[in-house]
Amino acid sequence: MNVVHAVVPGRPAPVCLPESLVDESMKITAGPDVISRLPLLSPSSPPDTALPAPFHYVHEQGSGKELLQEEMDIDSRTLNELLITGWIQARPGLLPRKTGYRCRRCGNSRRNRFGVVSCARCGRDCAYCRHCVQMGRICACSILYSWTATPVYSKAEEPVLQWQGTLSPGQQRASRAVVQAVENKSELLVWAVCGAGKTEVLFEGIARALDLGSRILIAAPRTDVVLELAPRLQAAFPNVAAAALYGSSEDKQKPAQLILSTTHQAMRFTDAFDTVIIDEVDAFPYSADESLVYAVTKAARPDAALIRLTATPPSSLKRQVTKKQLPCVRIPRRYHGLASAGSPFSVGCRVETAASERPPSCSRGEMVLQAAE
Ligand SMILES: [Zn+2]
Ligand SMILES: [Zn+2]
Repeated sequence: MNVVHAVVPGRPAPVCLPESLVDESMKITAGPDVISRLPLLSPSSPPDTALPAPFHYVHEQGSGKELLQEEMDIDSRTLNELLITGWIQARPGLLPRKTGYRCRRCGNSRRNRFGVVSCARCGRDCAYCRHCVQMGRICACSILYSWTATPVYSKAEEPVLQWQGTLSPGQQRASRAVVQAVENKSELLVWAVCGAGKTEVLFEGIARALDLGSRILIAAPRTDVVLELAPRLQAAFPNVAAAALYGSSEDKQKPAQLILSTTHQAMRFTDAFDTVIIDEVDAFPYSADESLVYAVTKAARPDAALIRLTATPPSSLKRQVTKKQLPCVRIPRRYHGLASAGSPFSVGCRVETAASERPPSCSRGEMVLQAAE
């Protein structure tokens, strides 16, 4: 399928449209050609008008995502109408580079991870990304569709957080740091040894983000982690529209403000989340696959709060903490079944000894990591 760049009456800048949609009221500025051969357009702004009510549901389903047409729950006629009116924009799936391409979905630009297929859609030998092909093939002629407007979330029924448990003093300090990161849209590393109860530490921060009308992504490395976390989040936030995304998930079309996703599934999002929490940032495959880091970064808005959780931080993050580039809060092990109490929490201050280096009788508490390498 060939596309054009065209100036549409009432729209300030040229937009990308399938050639078949062009009529005499439009002025073509580039094309027709395969989308990845045309110059790259800036992202479109949404129209000044209100989105017509019949489209509210599909907007909530699709906003913040970049999808192939076959991944959208929308018929061609509606898609075309939304393209012409500017609610949806068309962008290339593969971005041309000096040599080869970069896949917009997974960030892959290694030449050996692209293949060539005799393409029924454009009738040519068409390059495609092999790296993310299991999510649906993206070729040089593939279009990724995205909504130009972000949804406004109505307040969930109070109380939003219905978890009744109690946090240990260490968890409380970490919880306050998470809330602070959410409010300031800053970065935070939560270093919690296994069994320290790191999920509960997130609850107040998630509640605050929901209160601010933010959209939240909790990215986990693997499906089993998503399946383990999903019922706990659902129980803590029963009135919030939430979705759990993994390979065979049935929630993929579900409109949701709170999204729990494998890092793989996060590839379908772009510029979508105000708060991003990455669980087990040290774990495979996230730690070993640069495209998953790309995916989570792409899914976040440029000014999003970024909170990473880990039991064993990778050395790159430890270095950032040591250089005071990354605030970090540590939740130590609970000795004898009791959370240890201790020093006041503050982000990015003095060096303290790592908990693992202390004898079990030690009662010193939560530490701010500065140099535990
Ligand atoms: Zn093609
Ligand atoms: Zn790809």
